[in-house]
Amino acid sequence: MTVANEKTSKPVVLTCAQPTGKLHLGNYLGAVVNWGRMQGDYECFFGVVDQHAITIPYTPADLRRNIYTCLAQYVACGLDPARSHLFAQSHVIGHTELAWVLGCICPLGQLERMTQFKDKSRKQESVCAGLLYYPVLMAADILLYNANVVPVGEDQKQHLELARDLAEKFNRTYSPTFNVPDPFIGKTGARIMSLQNPESKMSKSDPNQNGTIYLMDTPEVIRKKITTAITDSGSEIRSSDDKPGIANLLTILSAVTGTPVPSLEQEYSGQGYGAFKNAVADAVIATLDPVRLRYEELIKDTAYLDQIFKAGADAAQKIAYRTLSKVYRKIGFVERLR
Ligand code: AMP
Repeated sequence: MTVANEKTSKPVVLTCAQPTGKLHLGNYLGAVVNWGRMQGDYECFFGVVDQHAITIPYTPADLRRNIYTCLAQYVACGLDPARSHLFAQSHVIGHTELAWVLGCICPLGQLERMTQFKDKSRKQESVCAGLLYYPVLMAADILLYNANVVPVGEDQKQHLELARDLAEKFNRTYSPTFNVPDPFIGKTGARIMSLQNPESKMSKSDPNQNGTIYLMDTPEVIRKKITTAITDSGSEIRSSDDKPGIANLLTILSAVTGTPVPSLEQEYSGQGYGAFKNAVADAVIATLDPVRLRYEELIKDTAYLDQIFKAGADAAQKIAYRTLSKVYRKIGFVERLR
């Protein structure tokens, strides 16, 4: 079931990011670039999900800093406050309220079976109830804005499935209210591998940090990481399974320049790994340096970041109240006099 957004008639997309710190090239090329491209065709809600961030142990001062870092990074990457609603989850009344309602129709067993809950709880000495409830809150994030599509990584697919189940159950139990959100299937982003271990994904938790390029790395650091990337002992610039390091560098170069891999293979044929790696470094620096410079301006200007959050929350709140009052009416609550 798809209900067009009442106001804009554009389909609604909701993207959420946890304020966990630095973004890397994999996040950028695999996800963020595509979110930026959706801004013309969709009504975009982009939430910095601070309420999700407190489900595992954390430090308040780090969280506060990371919330601004998160917003500044995404704005620097091209999420545009004039075209998208960029808000902090805790600024909008409705996320936790709707999560409560959805939790009351959600079977406990379904939450206990969530693989992310099991993984995360295994890593902790004591597990809070919020961690179990996390997927219900995520369902509320999505349904509050009646999102049509949600870009999700592999690890969030099960959670989106729960959001779909809860939307359907609510619609069946009361009356049609929510869109049943689809995963966003667009142009798939590039899958970027570690520069030091090209068999595994580039990741913030890679024990060898030379394998991960951060958006905020300086040009010197980026060049060093790329020129010392692990490759094979050959000299041929070709994308194949037996050359995962070179294949990964070709994927990266293709993603940042928009040139297809076969054309790059021809262009760099016979040039040797040194020259090729320098060309990849040049292209990555040309892409990321403006992002880093913009980020450095933004992060100094928390007053501006607060303004972005305010405008985003004001717009999101209108829709959130509308959904919440509809839901409260349907489940039998009485309306409060205004
Ligand atoms: P994470 O920080 O792992 O939660 O990832 C946030 C988003 O970035 C998700 O949509 C992931 O699919 C995407 N992403 C993370 N790492 C990579 C990678 N190495 N290559 C491509 N996309 C990635």
